[in-house]
Amino acid sequence: MVYTRIGHIPHLTWDVAQKFLKFSQEPILQFTLPLSFDDLPSVEQFGQGISRFSGTPTKFPIHLSLVDPLGSLESGYNNNKSMAIWGLGGRRSITPENLRDILSTCMPHSFSTLIDYDTPKDCHNKRITKSVFRTTSWNDSTFNANESLKESAILGLCGGFSTFHRIQLAKTFSEKSYASGFSLDLLSFSNNKKIKFAQEFDEIEVSKLISPVISELPESKLRMVEGSFTPMAEEKKAFRIADDFPKSLDFTIIDLNDSRYADDFTPIFEECKCYACSNYTKGYLQHLTNTKEMLLYILLVIHNLTEFDRMFQLIRNYLLECKNN
Ligand SMILES: [Zn+2]
Repeated sequence: MVYTRIGHIPHLTWDVAQKFLKFSQEPILQFTLPLSFDDLPSVEQFGQGISRFSGTPTKFPIHLSLVDPLGSLESGYNNNKSMAIWGLGGRRSITPENLRDILSTCMPHSFSTLIDYDTPKDCHNKRITKSVFRTTSWNDSTFNANESLKESAILGLCGGFSTFHRIQLAKTFSEKSYASGFSLDLLSFSNNKKIKFAQEFDEIEVSKLISPVISELPESKLRMVEGSFTPMAEEKKAFRIADDFPKSLDFTIIDLNDSRYADDFTPIFEECKCYACSNYTKGYLQHLTNTKEMLLYILLVIHNLTEFDRMFQLIRNYLLECKNN
């Protein structure tokens, strides 16, 4: 899935994206509710869904996430009736009824369900029990209305830092006929300072929380994790999901602010065939960093997405190999 800001990969027009990004698997595009919320009246009036509203090529399936991986989240604002999100106009509360209306306005192919994500590490068991109860009850209200939903539902699996609660919720939701997939909540480990309760990615803790949950989920249904993570964290999550992922895939992060790159005339990554690596050197990219040119962000998005695509292709190859052996 590729993140968009209301239908566009950040810094790229679709002409540029389609010319310079060659994905090994056609992506699903992620739209997020916090960014779209204030435009919903216009999208509704437009009447053809948010993908057409934003000029996104219609060949891509779109997924609507209720939390923006780069946006804000705070503790203390979810209640029994609604989940809080932070959009451009501040805090908004979303009820199951709101969600149904939003789906009929946005017309995504799939969407993530409401979850009570507000279970920081230091919260009590009682709060986690309440979170599981609320999430279940929101889902019941979303799906038990008279009219069934045509969009594929990816059910959010929360449960904070309690493996017990996470397994309990996975068992309940894995039996739901309306589940097309599952989204494991790891927002607490996001690399996003705007999530007030986020903390450092902890591979051992993540493994403890998600490995037993994965085995409760039907193999034929999609599983995903939403959020902003470093390539290292992505790799470690895949490691846990695949159970015995091989040695490190050797992805590195470089900081172009580092003055040692000023006279480095090699590409960001020698092996990379992307437009940025084929045409520019680290030295020039550092110049763009110093002058804060917009071109820098365009080139970095092209390179980073090319690298993420390579990483996920390696992960897919490995999973296929495991299956065939
Ligand atoms: Zn590159």
